[in-house]
Amino acid sequence: MSKVRTRFAPSPTGYMHIGNLRTALFTYIIAKKNGGDFILRIEDTDRERLVEGATDVIYNTLRECGLNWDEGPDVGGEYGPYIQSERMGMYKDYAIELVEKGKAYYCFCDKERLDELKAVQEASGVMPMYDRHCRSLSDEEVKEKLEAGIPYVIRQKVPTEGETTFHDELYGDITTPNSTLDDQILLKSDGYPTYNFANVIDDHLMGITHIVRGNEYLSSTPKYNLLYEAFGWEVPKYIHVEHIMKDKQHKLAKRDGDASYQDLIKQGYLTEAILNYIALLGWAPKGEREIFTLSELIEEFDVSGLSKSPAIFDAMKLKAINGEYIRKMPIEEFERHAMPYLKQAIKREDINLREVAELLQPRTELFTDIPEQVDFIDKMPEYDNALYCHRKMKTNEENSLVSLKEVLPVLESIDENSWNQETIYNKVVELVKKMEVKNGVVFWPLRVAVSGKAFTPGGGVELCVILGKDESINRVKTAIEKLSK
Ligand code: GLU
Repeated sequence: MSKVRTRFAPSPTGYMHIGNLRTALFTYIIAKKNGGDFILRIEDTDRERLVEGATDVIYNTLRECGLNWDEGPDVGGEYGPYIQSERMGMYKDYAIELVEKGKAYYCFCDKERLDELKAVQEASGVMPMYDRHCRSLSDEEVKEKLEAGIPYVIRQKVPTEGETTFHDELYGDITTPNSTLDDQILLKSDGYPTYNFANVIDDHLMGITHIVRGNEYLSSTPKYNLLYEAFGWEVPKYIHVEHIMKDKQHKLAKRDGDASYQDLIKQGYLTEAILNYIALLGWAPKGEREIFTLSELIEEFDVSGLSKSPAIFDAMKLKAINGEYIRKMPIEEFERHAMPYLKQAIKREDINLREVAELLQPRTELFTDIPEQVDFIDKMPEYDNALYCHRKMKTNEENSLVSLKEVLPVLESIDENSWNQETIYNKVVELVKKMEVKNGVVFWPLRVAVSGKAFTPGGGVELCVILGKDESINRVKTAIEKLSK
């Protein structure tokens, strides 16, 4: 079997939709799983859609994700150029070859005629298709027109009868009646290929064995297949992947603000978590496990795990996976990531940010959530006494007030030098025993009293350590006053 060669063929739009990134990921994985090559080809022939700097977005995203290509515009390779616009001279001869083989024909219809045809078809509710007007021109007629310099395009000669079947690795055999396939333009009047033609020629010339792409191309694939057959070329394996949806009805779109890799990075997600999550969008691993590094994905991946129904983007799930990656980080790395967010929220200089970082690491799913998690450190937030009522802890305003009054002298009795987690914890537990209550009856009110929040990075004792003795005691006193009113 020849070496597996896959390609990622993005159009440089300046934006890496996560659907595209996922296609790149699957394409890369399929190459690497089979010891093959992953090729990057930039499809920039749609000049109107070109955006400055857009190829850099592609390069940077793929590199950050570790999807390194074996051949491509910047790294070279035997099958270049790898930028479609630099290949423009290569296609015309192939179009003419097809004409000679009777699989394509010259078409001299002008815009006026085509527009009129389209208008009539639309008005009568039929799908606009070329009416094959020039398909029956004789060789002499064609020759005459060419000699007269009449502008022409070259169209694919699709069989009028029968059906075309192609095989998709995921969907199986797909059969389309030829009568529904348009005699599409292969070569435009300026001598340049259409995207649909260039794509097939490039894939063949680059020796691509597996084509992985979005399933919006499913409907064009029969025509691509007919082109391969017309040339007598080996047809590659096709793997069309499903869309990523925002919900059941809507595709995940740019305006949603979380559709691109760059959007997600801006929101604070880690590259590894994004890559891991998008692999699970439309692909199911065999077991229960969901956390995979790129090399583990290569190991685990199997085309049979790809889904035939659209995947729905679930930000909560991505966040949970991001949390898993955050917990696995060495503390130094966590601190490095968290520091800008900590500094944004904590201006007090007596706070040990390293300690705060340690508390936060097991509870952080997204770095950008950090400022909100720690904002109580600089300034006690306004809060409602109702926060003291906690069903599971069996607390209410009354018993919370009792607990806080009891805990205050205990805290005051601890020497400044012994103000650490162990000492405070032991003293509070002693108190709990003396009071003959459950732990929560003292710990819960303490947490609320020093933070004004129900969700905090750490319990009351840990927060007291962070805040320091004076501040903790002041806050407990204020809480007692507030509850006594
Ligand atoms: N340039 C196409 C796109 O960005 C890729 C099509 C293909 O992979 O065949 O949608």
